[in-house]
Amino acid sequence: MSGSEDDFGSYRRINDFIARAAFDVRDRDIFWVHDYHLLPLGADLHRLGIERPTGFFLHTPWPTPDMIEHVPNHHELMKSMLEYDLLGFQTNRDLNNFLACLRTYFGLESKDGVVTTERGQTRLQKFPIGIDPKQFAEYLAAELAPAEQEKISSLLQDVEGAKFAIGVDRLDYTKGIDKRIEAFSQLLAAEPGSISLLQIAPSSRADVDEYQKYKEDVENAINHVNAEHGTDEWRPIQYTNDSFSQAALARLYRAAHVGVVTPLRDGMNLVAKEYVAAQDPKDPGVLVLSKFAGAAEDFNADEALLVDPNHPEEIAEAILKATNMPLEERVKRWRSMMDKIESYTIHDWSAHYLGELDKSSITVPADQFHILGRGWTNEAHMPLYQSYAAALTAYNEIDPADAALKEAAYGAVKSAFDALAPPLKHTQDRLWDLPVATASRDGHRRQELRGRED
Ligand code: UDP
Repeated sequence: MSGSEDDFGSYRRINDFIARAAFDVRDRDIFWVHDYHLLPLGADLHRLGIERPTGFFLHTPWPTPDMIEHVPNHHELMKSMLEYDLLGFQTNRDLNNFLACLRTYFGLESKDGVVTTERGQTRLQKFPIGIDPKQFAEYLAAELAPAEQEKISSLLQDVEGAKFAIGVDRLDYTKGIDKRIEAFSQLLAAEPGSISLLQIAPSSRADVDEYQKYKEDVENAINHVNAEHGTDEWRPIQYTNDSFSQAALARLYRAAHVGVVTPLRDGMNLVAKEYVAAQDPKDPGVLVLSKFAGAAEDFNADEALLVDPNHPEEIAEAILKATNMPLEERVKRWRSMMDKIESYTIHDWSAHYLGELDKSSITVPADQFHILGRGWTNEAHMPLYQSYAAALTAYNEIDPADAALKEAAYGAVKSAFDALAPPLKHTQDRLWDLPVATASRDGHRRQELRGRED
C-alpha cells in the first residue's frame, strides 16, 4: 500500500468530523461502527466524552502481522481499535490474524477472547455476516421494472443453449476476475463450446488508476477469449458493467448452472450466499468458491467446490466438475449450504452483535443506587466496583462494638469509593439508566425502560 502523512491526516480528520457529528446523538444506548474507513472512530468518540458501549465490525479481511506492516500507521490504527468494547470479524482467520498482530506489535495476549489494556477490556469475536434468504425467495416471485426485465431477458437469451456460469463482482482487483477469464479460456480449449460465462461487473472506484487499469486488462482478456473460442453465433463470455437490482440478480443466479466466486481475498462475499439462496431446491446449481473468501469458512468442501483463485487450471477443473455433477450430489451440497444460510441470517448476525455489545455495560445493582447513583459503568471500571463492594462487606461484618476496627474498615470503604466515584460521576446526569442484568436483550427491554423514564 502506498500512503502519505497527508493521506493519514485526512483519514484522521474525517473520523474526527464524524465523531463530532455523532456527539449530537451521544445519549444513544450503544454505538456500532462499521468497516476500515472508521478504525479510529471509537477513540474519537471517547475523546469527546461519549462513554456508551462502542463496537466495531470489520467487513474486510484482517491480514497477518508481516502484511499489516505494509499499511502506513498500522501501529496507531490498531491501538485505536482497542478503544472499542467489542471487535467483530467475519472469520476465525481474521480474528486470529488480529490477535497475532496484537501479540507481535504490543505483546498483548487475549484471555477467553478478551484483551485487557489500560483503557479497559476489548472483547474479540467472529460474526460471519449473512443474507436474508426469505427476501431472496420473494425477489424470485417479484415483478421487475419493464426496462430491467428486458435487460435480463436479453442477457439470458445470449447465454441460451449451452450451460452457463455466472460471476457477479464489483470491478475490483481483489475479485480475481482476470484469473477466472483465464480459467474459461483453458476450459474452452479443452472442451470447446461446453459452457459460457455471464460476468456482471459494475464499475467500482473508476477514478482510481489501478481500477482503470484492471478494467482494461479484464476487457482485453474477454475480447481475446471471445475471438479465440467464439463463433459467429456464440460468444463464450457475456460481460456488462451495468449494475442490477437484487431481484434481477436473483433471476440470473437461478438460471445459472454454476456460480463462480473466486476472489483473491474477501471479507465474506455475499454473492456466494445469494447464489445459493436463489437456487431451485429440486435442480440447484453448484457453487465454485475461492478458499480465500470468508464464505469458505462457512461452506466446506462437501458443499462448495473450493478452489485456489490464483490457479486458473483449478478453477477450470472445478467448473467442469460442476457442470457434470449428478442431480443427487447437487441437491445434497445445496441443502447443506442452504441450512447454514437459514440458520444465521443477516438479522441473526445483527441481533447477535448487538446482544454481545450490550454486555459491555454493567448496571449498578439496585441496592447500591443510594450510594452510587443510578448510573451504569463500563466493564473497565468493574475491578474498582468490586474492591468497593468487598470493602463494604468487610465493614458490615465488623461488630459495631469494636470501634477501632470499624473505623479502620471505614477508611478502606472510603478510599475504595473515592477511586470508584470519578468514573461513575458522569453517569449521574444521564437521561436514563440501563436495566438490571436479568432483563432480556430484545426490544422489550428498551420499551420497558422508556416506560420507566416516562
Ligand atoms: N450487487 C447488486 N447489484 C449488482 C452487483 C452486486 O446489488 O449489479 C450486490 C450483491 O447482490 C451483493 C453486493 O452487491 O449483495 C456485493 O457484496 P459482496 O459481499 O459479494 O462484495 P463487495 O462488493 O461487498 O466486496
